[in-house]
Amino acid sequence: MNTNGKKPKKPLIFYYLIAAAVLLLLNLTIVPQYMGRQFKEVDYGTFLSMVDGGSVKQAVVENNTVRFIAEDENGNNINYKANIVSNSDLSNRLYEAGVRYGQDVPEEMNPMLALLLSWILPLAVLLIVGRMISRRMGGMNTMSFGKSGAKIYAEDQTGKTFADVAGEDEAKDALREIVDFLHDPKKYAEIGASLPKGALLVGPPGTGKTLLAKAVAGEAKVPFFSISGSEFVEMFVGMGAAKVRDLFKQAGEKAPCIVFIDEIDTIGKKRGGGFEGGNDEREQTLNQLLTEMDGFDGNKGVVILAATNRPESLDKALLRPGRFDRRIPVELPDLAGREAILKVHAKNVMLSDSVDFNSIARATQGASGAELANIVNEAALRAVRMGRSSVCQEDLEESVEVVIAGYQRKNASISQHEREIVAYHEIGHALVAARQSNSAPVHKITIIPRTSGALGYTMQLDEDERFLMSKDEAFNKIATFTGGRAAEELIFGSITTGAANDIEQATRLARGMVTRYGMSESFDMTALETVTNQYLGGDTTLMCSPETAAKVDAEVVSLIKKAHEKAIGILKADMDKLHELAGYLLEKETITGEEFMKILNE
Ligand code: ADP
Ligand code: MG
Ligand code: ZN
Repeated sequence: MNTNGKKPKKPLIFYYLIAAAVLLLLNLTIVPQYMGRQFKEVDYGTFLSMVDGGSVKQAVVENNTVRFIAEDENGNNINYKANIVSNSDLSNRLYEAGVRYGQDVPEEMNPMLALLLSWILPLAVLLIVGRMISRRMGGMNTMSFGKSGAKIYAEDQTGKTFADVAGEDEAKDALREIVDFLHDPKKYAEIGASLPKGALLVGPPGTGKTLLAKAVAGEAKVPFFSISGSEFVEMFVGMGAAKVRDLFKQAGEKAPCIVFIDEIDTIGKKRGGGFEGGNDEREQTLNQLLTEMDGFDGNKGVVILAATNRPESLDKALLRPGRFDRRIPVELPDLAGREAILKVHAKNVMLSDSVDFNSIARATQGASGAELANIVNEAALRAVRMGRSSVCQEDLEESVEVVIAGYQRKNASISQHEREIVAYHEIGHALVAARQSNSAPVHKITIIPRTSGALGYTMQLDEDERFLMSKDEAFNKIATFTGGRAAEELIFGSITTGAANDIEQATRLARGMVTRYGMSESFDMTALETVTNQYLGGDTTLMCSPETAAKVDAEVVSLIKKAHEKAIGILKADMDKLHELAGYLLEKETITGEEFMKILNE
């Protein structure tokens, strides 16, 4: 951004420091040399008596002036000059006095030149240095504004376009109107339409909200001001509000432009209530934001975008018409979206012919755009590590697992007995899954430990994307979760901690069936829990009496017990296959879904 007009405040100190340094340097070096060449004027008689007195050391005559160097009482050499009145025997007289007579005396400096060197030159240096500094400042994207010192990231051109955002077509459609408005605000003003002042991008982390905001600015070719909500929350009360004021003032000057407030939930939390008590600072900041949003003219061409992954915690005042009244969901990508995102990020990556992004997209249900970008990069890094010149399917598959489960722990020392437990556990999952209808086919089973702590895992992959789950499918899924533990019980007669994660997932699903999906006998279609944190982990809060809560717990327990028994039944009926497959897995460490099915169907 160009910082014409207002000079940035902090850099001014550097400016002064450098100027002072330059001046000091000049005064210590060049200037004294020239300043020394000033001449004290005396009359001719004084000159002659100085010659006779023997204090004159050197002299030179030019035109009608004599310049000479003489010692003063303290023995310092001083430059003098005198007008010659009569030239009769000057040379002789000088000779007799032992004065060196010739060219040794420096010329007198032009007074103009002296002025130039001592004042104008330093000033010029100062100016040039200053100009350089302010130009360099202009090249950076961080500016400090006014008194608040708010860090506002401003970009003239973000360089992003909608082409950089894969999938998210609904969000893009919703934002296209804003782009059009920014292109030509007058068109809207003439008709009398005023566009929403703000749009709120809502969705889980890493789905491309920030990217979309930048793309809007890039498409509209307008400047992009961004600030993160957390930057408003300051140590000193009142600073946050000042920052908001600064931000809008700057934006007003640069309109049309985009103002992007990331993580707006940090300032936009519901006011009052809550357990923390009032937070004056945050409320002030929020009030200032509301005031500014109301205050500016909607047709000026300033569009405010904000992003959050906690929309439910936002203050209602922010969401009312005239503020962030447009809410744009940016959800986790679907199958097609994931494939598109993988392709966008693989654009500059060398790929071998084996690469099939569709299968990678299928294996990454629930992954965000950021995670997919990471997967592509991990794959490229792996290809380099392997000394290959292009990325192959195996690299991508391995990096999916790295992102899901962490890196392989190749040299982890695990006893043979534990390896056996893990192998039976994983085959237990896979067998239970395979022997039930309506469960996703097994894609891969591995007992290579991972840095996440997983000692092995079974990957199931649906043929295509699923959006609904029937009650039966949900129940079968719980049975599959319990299948690992069930195998341990059957084979070793003891149980291990290895099922902790399965237990967590089974419980969450069973609870959901009872409290949210109306899939239990006793409660019919009653909502007993609400999701409070849709995009961040999906925490729930109970909304029923303690008595009901106790019944819910009992229902969840009985559901899981039933599923667990089902799993045990399935495995008991298939002991031979359980042994055979576990033995094969122990030997191979990793087996594919096809290998698994082949042995199972023999
Ligand atoms: P958010 O702000 O929603 O948390 P970001 O916009 O910061 O997410 O996304 C992080 C990164 O993930 C982006 O820089 C981009 O590389 C990648 N990404 C996320 N979503 C997409 C998408 N839909 N298309 C392409 N890349 C994406
Ligand atoms: Mg973001
Ligand atoms: Zn398990």
